[in-house]
Amino acid sequence: MIPLVVILGRPNVGKSTLFNRLLKKKKSLTHNLPGVTRDNIYGEVIHEKVKFALVDTGGLVLEGEDEFEKEILVQAEEALSDADLVLFVVDGKDGLTPQDKEVARLLRQANKNTLLVVNKVDGFEQEDLLISDFYGLGFPMVAVSAAHGYNVRFLLDQVVENLPFVQSKDNIQMEEQGLKLCVLGRPNVGKSSLVNELFGRKKQIVSSVPGTTRDCVDLVIEKNGRHYILIDTPGVRRKSNIEGSLERFSVLRALKTSKRSDIVFLMVDALEGICHQDKKLISFLQREHIPFIVLVNKIDLLKENELKRIKEEIAYELRFCSYVPVVFTSTVTRAGMGSLVPLAEKVWEKSGIRISTSELNRLLREVQHKHQPPIVRGKRLKFYYVTQTDVYPPEFVFFVNNPSLIKASYKRFLENKIRNLFNLEMVPLKIYFRGRS
Ligand code: GDP
Ligand code: GDP
Repeated sequence: MIPLVVILGRPNVGKSTLFNRLLKKKKSLTHNLPGVTRDNIYGEVIHEKVKFALVDTGGLVLEGEDEFEKEILVQAEEALSDADLVLFVVDGKDGLTPQDKEVARLLRQANKNTLLVVNKVDGFEQEDLLISDFYGLGFPMVAVSAAHGYNVRFLLDQVVENLPFVQSKDNIQMEEQGLKLCVLGRPNVGKSSLVNELFGRKKQIVSSVPGTTRDCVDLVIEKNGRHYILIDTPGVRRKSNIEGSLERFSVLRALKTSKRSDIVFLMVDALEGICHQDKKLISFLQREHIPFIVLVNKIDLLKENELKRIKEEIAYELRFCSYVPVVFTSTVTRAGMGSLVPLAEKVWEKSGIRISTSELNRLLREVQHKHQPPIVRGKRLKFYYVTQTDVYPPEFVFFVNNPSLIKASYKRFLENKIRNLFNLEMVPLKIYFRGRS
């Protein structure tokens, strides 16, 4: 469980610029599949050997909801419930605005661990002038230029210094005992019903998640002699709870939960289809290579002609990760219930597969022979060697003469080959290309 740092602030103060600056995106090992960079909202940063997750709330704002009040509330609410540290970004050139004051008030009210980041201070000579407006907010403050990099290192030092480390040893030990599953989906889709159907109503609570207002907990359960950990599960929440009806689908929370899980069950509503937040989650899970299974729930309510429509919709949304298993379920008729846990086990088992270098290179020779890589800009791609570099999920590195000659289509072709040959149909694969060094 790594600490979550959330970038918050009104539009145009430079949140996404700062996000990109802090992430210092790796160039050589990134991938260029279409759709993958749809929305950049989550990344991991390592600074001084400390790892933390960074979320840009700007990317979480719902489309078509650009009305400021609503937007900032949605952002603030999510950040407040989940963040271990908030980077509250303001615009030094604009000075303090009423909206900034409102955000500050919310942060103080929630007693959130906050660093005020005064952005657009494009050099030390501007610092005194541009930050003076903001002292009154009463937060520890760092002046930076996200665009030019001024003071960003110092900001990172400050972030690391201000991170609380919440994980206790007991929890870690408990978590290591079983497959970690979570069920995500918007309110009322059937998550609690599913958890009850799968695991009965008796569950042992492992730990409550610190810093959250909703009573989500990790649970240890036993089924057929095996242990499972249900991460951040709303299934134990009493429905009579006043908060029950107010539960929102928090994408931010879902991101954090899925990072802690081995396998994610993403539940969507058969009648209502895939919503905006579901899409964000799918794109995130795909980008992060987190294994997931899509459950289309409440199929008992569907008429036959509607089944085709939802199937097509799902296929479309999973077009960049067509390997993801889809199960049609009903917690009422129990359709699909029996297959879910075994399926999760299977996906997990497969993502731990180790393929020998000799087998991989046999594949490579065969592929090159039968399906020569295309000539790009007068040059032909040459493969030297391929090896598996990681598991959970499987990661492969191809050593080639020139990585820039790889096209997305050829990468997909290789990926499919590996999937077919080694029966890896349901798991995410990481595939990278390296030039000869
Ligand atoms: P967001 O809406 O908060 O994510 O803001 P963006 O990151 O999209 O930035 C808004 C605008 O501010 C863009 O035109 C950026 O180029 C500009 N900007 C961001 N950081 C800086 C900075 O450090 N200095 C200056 N002068 N402009 C910046
Ligand atoms: P959660 O908010 O995602 O935990 O959803 P719940 O499990 O509380 O379910 C919300 C509502 O949908 C409840 O009234 C359930 O009885 C109902 N529900 C859940 N699963 C199904 C299903 O497969 N079919 C039908 N018809 N209703 C369901």
